[in-house]
Amino acid sequence: MELETKNKIIANYNMFFYATMCHVCKRFGDGVCLKKCGGCRMIAYCNRQHQKQHWSQHKSLCKAIQDVLQGFKMEDHGISEEWDDQKLNLILLISFKLGRPLEMYEKETFQFPRECIVCHEQDGQSLEDCQSCASISFCKDHKNSIKHKDTCVFLELCLRSNLLFINGENNTLDMHYLQYVFDTDIFRNMNDFINAYGNIQTESEMLYNILAARHLQYLTRPLTLFHTMQILDYIPQRKDLVIHVLAASYVEETTLMTWEILLLQPHADTRAKQIAAWKSLVLEYYRITKQAVVDVREIHTNPLFNNASINRKLPSEAVLVILEELGKSGNASPLDKTKQRWLVYWHTLEEWGDIIYNWAQENGFTGSVCTFFELTQGEDTNEQEFNGLDTEVLIRSLKTLEAARKAEIISFDDNQGVKFF
Ligand SMILES: [Zn+2]
Ligand SMILES: [Zn+2]
Ligand SMILES: [Zn+2]
Ligand SMILES: [Zn+2]
Repeated sequence: MELETKNKIIANYNMFFYATMCHVCKRFGDGVCLKKCGGCRMIAYCNRQHQKQHWSQHKSLCKAIQDVLQGFKMEDHGISEEWDDQKLNLILLISFKLGRPLEMYEKETFQFPRECIVCHEQDGQSLEDCQSCASISFCKDHKNSIKHKDTCVFLELCLRSNLLFINGENNTLDMHYLQYVFDTDIFRNMNDFINAYGNIQTESEMLYNILAARHLQYLTRPLTLFHTMQILDYIPQRKDLVIHVLAASYVEETTLMTWEILLLQPHADTRAKQIAAWKSLVLEYYRITKQAVVDVREIHTNPLFNNASINRKLPSEAVLVILEELGKSGNASPLDKTKQRWLVYWHTLEEWGDIIYNWAQENGFTGSVCTFFELTQGEDTNEQEFNGLDTEVLIRSLKTLEAARKAEIISFDDNQGVKFF
């Protein structure tokens, strides 16, 4: 395996512990020669400098381990639950001895020491580490005795994730998209959900999986509960739904907002409010920019739907929901059958028709012909709201006048115009 971290001291190396790695630079694999701490023999380093680097943080624990182990012997009766219990007891004793709770990585040195996964042999000489996940070791006898391939996939995902985030990349998880989740009905599983909303942009499958896993670990609880409520047809009777998160870990504490997804979804009026807010935002944006066409395939480049500066990222599914709603109120219509391109207009077509017709009447254009150019670009209409109107929107508006027998669209030469009655 390639050397992942190139021998450099990683700033937050105490974020996690792997018994198969240098604790300070996180190098591992056949090419790396590790030496255990001579005091406790629980933690390893690739060189003296890295051991020295960690010593001030490790010293007190190292001493406590030696003291406690003098009177404590782990006994292996071949029952893995019992073996795990003994590890927990050891952690407790050492914590008493130190007079403080152990840090997460310190606990991990006891929970996941370098030992044969089958027989718990800890003699480093006879152990071999899995080179893919760096999480599992085998003694010579048990190298081929259990199936590791299936679990290795997930352990490797954890490893890659740990290495990625310890190197300081993508450490903050942006979950603001949850505010814009509209229609959970369209999701059948977590992957669908993340595909639609997670906004994960990477070519690498491994990186995609890592980032997806980071989102999913927070979303799995609320979405599972949400799904259960759907299956049971349970609709909360009160608006102030109270969720008790029992035995909350720091993960829950830091991601409480994920639970709000339950508050947002089932309430029809909340959803209606969200959609109404989006509708007016979209119409305002298209009014100010004098644009008219939304291409759903290109919304990632549209500052309205995808705006990093205000943490707004709307997935295409949600944009479609908004467009459909705009369609219902007469403010949008699809330009093609697949509903990829839409025409958006901040007045309905009938309203535009009336506005143009009233202008024509008030300014003496009844009975005469105006070209489309004159209507939308001409000097006579400079002050008018429809000056600059998209041609397709104009044509559709004039067609409503045609239907009401108030005007007729006519073509002449290479030009198009309208005659008002
Ligand atoms: Zn090292
Ligand atoms: Zn030590
Ligand atoms: Zn073994
Ligand atoms: Zn493995």
